[in-house]
Amino acid sequence: MRIRDVWQAAGIERCDGEVLTAALLGRDRSWVPAHEDDRIPPESMKRLTDAFSRRAQGEPVAYILGKRDFYGRDFFVDPSVLIPRPATEGLVDLALEMIDGSLTGTILRSVDAGIVACGNYWGGKNEAVSVIDIGTGSGCIAVTIACQRPDVPVIATDVSEDSLRIAKKNAEHHHVSGRIRFIQGSLLEPIAGERHPFVIVSNPPYVPDDFPADRDLSFEPSGALFAGPEGLDVLLPLVREARRHPLCRGFLVECREDQVASLHL
Ligand code: GLN
Repeated sequence: MRIRDVWQAAGIERCDGEVLTAALLGRDRSWVPAHEDDRIPPESMKRLTDAFSRRAQGEPVAYILGKRDFYGRDFFVDPSVLIPRPATEGLVDLALEMIDGSLTGTILRSVDAGIVACGNYWGGKNEAVSVIDIGTGSGCIAVTIACQRPDVPVIATDVSEDSLRIAKKNAEHHHVSGRIRFIQGSLLEPIAGERHPFVIVSNPPYVPDDFPADRDLSFEPSGALFAGPEGLDVLLPLVREARRHPLCRGFLVECREDQVASLHL
């Protein structure tokens, strides 16, 4: 059978067919269009047909391959963590500016259609702060910041033990596990004993429970996506605890544009 016939028979889109084929045959994506009439090597047939049929049933490509690119680095993912999204790369950009001291006061930037990164920084201009990534999931925020800013201490928390396992694996993969502390727990509770000034950077669950998703989110952990009728059930306590903590110098969160007013930046 030819490569293209197999993904066409599975009924998946060309771009997904190409990405899966390239990854599973160990080729670049650009290799595929010129070789889609090739016969599939018999030893790869089962792996390809399995991957295509998983995709045909709606499973995200990132879970089928077990990884996803974020900020130019590959991250391991599995269904216990949210798949890193481009919007969160915008959150990381802003976080880097915040820890570099080039942003103060209210911070607000659009990072995708209807999605913003926003927060507030009230620390000193050149104050050294550590970064706490609350609800780290795959660890993409914590690991990227640790890679981009080798001098900044990073703490990554999550309620889920499975997430922390993946986040640690990603930290090891990118050689920053010695610079990130991983702590299990909810909101600011894991850092109760913190002694140094810090900022919070977080992509918490913020999708309203009844939100009619235009994309299939059913394969991802609902606890990482949905947060009450208005999607504010994690954001509001997170921001409240950040403002209250004597060592917290600021926070930056990803959320929907229509949730910003409720955060009273
Ligand atoms: N931006 C994501 C989505 O709409 C949601 C991420 C989140 O809730 N943290 O798919």
